[in-house]
Amino acid sequence: MVLDKDRPSTWKKYDNTFCTLCVANCCRMPVEIKISDLVRLNLASEDEALGSVKKLAKRLKKEGIIKSYREGTEFFMLTQKSNDDCYFLDPKTRLCSVYEKRPDTCRSFPAIVGPRIGYCPSLRK
Ligand code: SF4
Repeated sequence: MVLDKDRPSTWKKYDNTFCTLCVANCCRMPVEIKISDLVRLNLASEDEALGSVKKLAKRLKKEGIIKSYREGTEFFMLTQKSNDDCYFLDPKTRLCSVYEKRPDTCRSFPAIVGPRIGYCPSLRK
């Protein structure tokens, strides 16, 4: 079966050797983040986080950092490039450019979050 990042049934059971050999296929999937992530990433100040979330979302959308904001859940969807790469994925190194400050969603994938817990869309270099 050919591995397809959009079809979790094709994913492989996660193994901690995957990340060093992978082209960051998981960073080509939609990522939802919270206000706390935005503050850690220095994309929002503490004051903004306590103020109008709609206003913050409007600014981040205008700057091209987020694609959308879901009011009910307070989740912001990070922008993906035309090739599906995450806004923060370095196109040359295929590494996260904000790794130390990366969103909680990324830290928890695939052990805690993701469409198929414990499985990974790893594509080797
Ligand atoms: S923030 Fe970093 S770890 Fe998370 S999807 Fe984007 S490039 Fe990958």
